[in-house]
Amino acid sequence: MLLDVHDLHVTLPDQGRKLRAVRGVDLSVAAGETLCLVGESGCGKSMTALALMGLLPRRAERRAARLRLGLTDLGGLSDGAMSALRGRRMSMIFQEPMTALNPVFTIGDQLCSVYRRHTRASGAAARARAIDVLESVGLTNAALRMRQYPHQLSGGLRQRVLIAMALICEPELMICDEPTTALDVTTQAQILHILKEAQAARNMGMIFITHDLGVVARIADRVAVMYAGRVVEEGTREAVLRHPAHPYTRGLIASVPKPGGGEPGQTRLASIAGNVPAFHQEDARCPFLSRCLQRMDVCAETPPPVRQAPAGQSFACHLLPGWVESRAAGVEKRA
Ligand code: SF4
Ligand code: MG
Repeated sequence: MLLDVHDLHVTLPDQGRKLRAVRGVDLSVAAGETLCLVGESGCGKSMTALALMGLLPRRAERRAARLRLGLTDLGGLSDGAMSALRGRRMSMIFQEPMTALNPVFTIGDQLCSVYRRHTRASGAAARARAIDVLESVGLTNAALRMRQYPHQLSGGLRQRVLIAMALICEPELMICDEPTTALDVTTQAQILHILKEAQAARNMGMIFITHDLGVVARIADRVAVMYAGRVVEEGTREAVLRHPAHPYTRGLIASVPKPGGGEPGQTRLASIAGNVPAFHQEDARCPFLSRCLQRMDVCAETPPPVRQAPAGQSFACHLLPGWVESRAAGVEKRA
């Protein structure tokens, strides 16, 4: 396994209390595989990614039973070792390319400086490498682009530059945090295509964070659905999107506008009634309790067990595997 994460927790201090942003997350990503992390904003997707990258805010606490990239124990690395690894073995791209690029340096300077931070390449070799990687993400006139500043490029081109920057050291794992959310539908499709090509060419593992189920359907091999800092359902794209088992996942999928309805390209999560519980809430009850149409007494008393659904994915819920099918057959089948 390329990335192997077991029981990851992230806690942030919040006015004397502890905000538990990530609560016991398990994730794995194989080489060449795309794992989509899905959920509403604030569910802990970005915190999970930042924890993997060693980029959490200073006061945050991270702990994990296992946190490995290949043979490397990320949990045991010093800040210095982690920063040497970041950008070289794992890299990350963000939603808003303008904030990730430095407005006062040219594209070429920024690409070369990332490359030279991790290699002993000469200036000329770094420049050649930068042009190569810009061309590999479909930028035409790469030599000209090298001399331009971020504000001279469109949002789509800036995102390509960021992808080039993330790829320049040939990482084993790339984490993409909503990289297409700020882009129009056509540009979004191009960027997804570029990412998939870059991944296939390198057999790179990818974690793709999104709240857009249309994007998930296009690029995921596996899907992990997060809710209130936990993974509530995890499995293959086919299993999770076609045969969702957790009531939250079912709600997400039901809330996507059907083709012909809604705005074109609008496949973002619409609303499920109720609120996400406060992050300080204790663990004994199911986090989805207040919004769940299937809730039972046991859900308020005992943490939901992890079960395996008939389609093969795991889900954390008191409902028995197969509850959806049995309900369709008119039989209420509950734990
Ligand atoms: Fe709903 Fe209970 Fe399952 Fe939670 S454990 S999702 S409240 S049925
Ligand atoms: Mg986020």
